[in-house]
Amino acid sequence: QAKGMGGNVFYLFEEHLNDSSAERLHLENELHNALLKNQFEVFYQPKQNLKDNCIESAEALIRWNHPEHGLIPPVKFIPLAEQTGLINKIGEFVLRTACQQARWWSLKGFGDIKVSVNLSAQQLKADGFMSLLTSILKETNLEPERLILEITESLLMDDVEATIRQLQEIRDLGVGLSIDDFGTGYSSLSYLKRFPIDILKIDQSFIKEINTNADDAAITKAIIAMAHSLDLRVIAEGVETEESREFLRDQNCDLIQGYLVSRPLTNDQMQRMLANFAA
Ligand code: C2E
Ligand code: MG
Ligand code: MG
Ligand code: MG
Repeated sequence: QAKGMGGNVFYLFEEHLNDSSAERLHLENELHNALLKNQFEVFYQPKQNLKDNCIESAEALIRWNHPEHGLIPPVKFIPLAEQTGLINKIGEFVLRTACQQARWWSLKGFGDIKVSVNLSAQQLKADGFMSLLTSILKETNLEPERLILEITESLLMDDVEATIRQLQEIRDLGVGLSIDDFGTGYSSLSYLKRFPIDILKIDQSFIKEINTNADDAAITKAIIAMAHSLDLRVIAEGVETEESREFLRDQNCDLIQGYLVSRPLTNDQMQRMLANFAA
């Protein structure tokens, strides 16, 4: 646990998400100011390719560096950001920062590491998202093939035809698409086949007890096998033990992400890790 993530802070943030009190307004203001005051920080969590054991990509994960409350995790403010529409500006910041960073890693000689960015439904649906994406890629000079957008199953479920069209436009740019937290929503793999997706991320709830819980092991095996038969790559998230990695390797899982490989890292820590790998 990072310093400053005290229980009463969590309480403060959750307590007021659903009312319209002055306190909530205060938090909203703080969240708004956080952008102007540069209080958001993007962390990166490496993803390991199980075929060659290399770090193939990294997921961008936002934290709020609050002057009083310390490092606040995304679950504590992303919902409020989504409710207030601030997610569009915050998401833009993460997207731009992550693209800049990935470009920087190659300039530093760390190889062409890909970067993935979580996208809220609202961002995708906002007017001008496509032109924002295009201009960030242009401005940062990042090859579109090195950006992956992580979306959730629920995002795919409303207005299916319009969503397919938009995802196809993103894919036409060369940008990759990944389904996050797969298995927790309602989509079936046959349904997913209609979406122009590249990667499935198996939710960590299935991975946690993969070596002791026969049901979780069976579900994970089935997801990997079916995904491969649909020409999708698979990543397991929340991998914490060597036994899990070996299980996943045996099942031909393509990539893993989790504390076993690394916790989410600050930009500096990530650069050090890549430098060690390169050496
Ligand atoms: P996610 O995209 O599913 O990200 C994975 C979460 O699992 C991260 O939590 C990560 O730190 C955590 N994790 C990774 N490996 C392990 C492990 O081995 N064990 C355990 N117990 N946890 C692990 P984090 O960073 O707190 O992010 C939580 C969620 O917040 C993310 O889930 C994502 O949905 C959302 N989020 C994060 N950054 C952004 C962002 O920039 N924009 C949006 N819209 N959502 C974001
Ligand atoms: Mg994610
Ligand atoms: Mg996830
Ligand atoms: Mg999650």
